[in-house]
Amino acid sequence: MVQIKELGAGVLRNNRMMSDGRTIRYYDSQGQSRQAIDQRPQEEQPLIGELRLDPLLNEWIALAAHRQTRTFLPPKELCPLCPTQGAALTEIPESDFEVVVFDNRFPSLRPPETGWNLPEINGPDTRVAPAAGVCEVVCFTPDHGQSFADLSQRQVRTVLEAWRDRTSELSKLDFVRQIFPFENRGEEIGVTLMHPHGQIYAYSYLPPKTTQMLLAATQHFDETGRILFDDLLAREIRDEVRIVAHNDHWIAFVPFAARYPFEIHVAPLIPVADLTQLSPGACDAFPEIALEVLQRLDGVFNIPMAYIAAWHQAPVREGRDLLRLHWQITSVRRAPGKLKYLAGSESAMGAFIMDMLPEQSANQLRSVVLEK
Ligand SMILES: [Zn+2]
Repeated sequence: MVQIKELGAGVLRNNRMMSDGRTIRYYDSQGQSRQAIDQRPQEEQPLIGELRLDPLLNEWIALAAHRQTRTFLPPKELCPLCPTQGAALTEIPESDFEVVVFDNRFPSLRPPETGWNLPEINGPDTRVAPAAGVCEVVCFTPDHGQSFADLSQRQVRTVLEAWRDRTSELSKLDFVRQIFPFENRGEEIGVTLMHPHGQIYAYSYLPPKTTQMLLAATQHFDETGRILFDDLLAREIRDEVRIVAHNDHWIAFVPFAARYPFEIHVAPLIPVADLTQLSPGACDAFPEIALEVLQRLDGVFNIPMAYIAAWHQAPVREGRDLLRLHWQITSVRRAPGKLKYLAGSESAMGAFIMDMLPEQSANQLRSVVLEK
């Protein structure tokens, strides 16, 4: 295993072993040395879960019963994502860090034994498989009280380097088909740890959203010879009214058919399949637009917005010429004290009803006066 690797923007990655055999990766921009030993007693690893097919929709469901025991909203002094201080041993053995990525202690997907493959789909007779995949945790900052929007541009640049490195490394695993870095923020959407962090899921199957996007992009390409996402981006640039922010390399807009009151898509102007393909210029310009978008979101009602920030990337081994990298941020908040609940139509039928025009929402986001 390569211990130390040099990445973009002067970031060094340092891989270390945790006491239970999991890997923790430190991403540092100041050449820090990472030697701290995990002092915690060895712990048994949870068993791998099951993948079962829902044959009505041909969708894979990952079942991981052991996750019931995971940590739920601990007080700050018991936070497992803060750096280790004295006898308070956490997931991060060092007493300080910039950005770390480590294997999730309660993973819903785990690396399988060799020879694993996804079962053939055969209706209700489809075989059950071990829930293959990888689940990782990304800590954005050692500061418990911050949020992503409070990070400096330098910190966001290091987070981006970590996402890019993990996408590149996880793509090499033969059972991985889709890599999904994301962040859930806010108790309203089920966050169980308040420390600013995100996750990375590497799926061994194509998730339903990716499958649907690939189908739409394939149909569009067959009919027009063009890439769907590029056409969509051209429309947003032409219409202008839904653009929330932009710089030389990125554009952020509320999509034409937004599902949520506050939904922002952020895309590089030079389209790429995934994070690893971003140019150095696009990487350096990302922190500015990322922070602007999240600060606008928090500024709408002057309260920290609950959101899901999701990186959509092309799958690892298919559709790489058809699907494009973009970052989707969706908030369930409609107004202070009011959430959009996924009720009958949305939950049961997947049919979204929106009571606010995307153009109005874009206007509200643009009107936020940012503190400089
Ligand atoms: Zn913490």
